[in-house]
Amino acid sequence: MTAIVVVEDEPDIGDLLALYCRREGWTVHVSGDGRSGLEAIRSREPDFVVLDVGLPGDMNGFDVCRELRQTSDVPVLFLTARDDEVDRILGLEMGADDYVTKPFSPREIVARIKAVLRRGRAETTPTRAGFGPLVVDLARHQATIDDREVPLASQEWALLETLVNNQGMVLSRQQLLDSAWGAEWIGDPRTVDVHVRQLRRKLGPDLPLATVRGIGYRLG
Ligand code: CA
Repeated sequence: MTAIVVVEDEPDIGDLLALYCRREGWTVHVSGDGRSGLEAIRSREPDFVVLDVGLPGDMNGFDVCRELRQTSDVPVLFLTARDDEVDRILGLEMGADDYVTKPFSPREIVARIKAVLRRGRAETTPTRAGFGPLVVDLARHQATIDDREVPLASQEWALLETLVNNQGMVLSRQQLLDSAWGAEWIGDPRTVDVHVRQLRRKLGPDLPLATVRGIGYRLG
């Protein structure tokens, strides 16, 4: 299960982030200052850290990150209240994976966390799938037939990526929507059918995408 540590001294923000993360099924621990945050990160070994820059006590977010980077390469997303370049550059130079300026939407944070976690996973899961002349290269974000690139719209790509990452499994339309569009997306699960039709049209008969009646789809 994905574990997140949020280091944020404003309780409203910490609570809101925790709420949105828990909705994703992630476990969340919130620390209110840098030192306890660092302790929480070291003891819990989370998959992701959300780190406010301005923290009370003797360690701000930058101090926490600097300490953390001595021993850990856990992804870090900085929250900063100061919308100036110095903060951003400082944040990124010290090994942060991303940053967001306040005020922000918790949905945006969740989306950023997902993007970073996806990037991390891409290094450990197979990034290429071949189906005869059709090759889906997740790392290069490219689908090719006989080495000729097939242009895909972003939602088609997200759908294809989800299918490739779950090859051999039957996925319901809702699962595909949640994974490819994000759980926040509200709409008709039949939208998936429209994009599946497009994928089939573009990628042709080599795509081993089966319709599982009454449930959804299975690749391979
Ligand atoms: Ca703060």
